[in-house]
Amino acid sequence: MAENKVDEIKLKYCPNCGESLLKPNSLLNEYWISQDTAYFCWCGECSWRGEIIEIIRVTAPELATS
Ligand SMILES: [Zn+2]
Repeated sequence: MAENKVDEIKLKYCPNCGESLLKPNSLLNEYWISQDTAYFCWCGECSWRGEIIEIIRVTAPELATS
């Protein structure tokens, strides 16, 4: 059952060094902001930490035209 849960987590690797965030010395915490899924990550290998948010809808300002 625990392995099925791991498969649902789309983020598995550190965006800085590529090390697995599922290792015991790293932290990967999934939570939700409205409809979006946010992942708080802390890499035990390179100490990178941050949040990555998977968004359902993009709200962006009008793109500048050149
Ligand atoms: Zn890392």
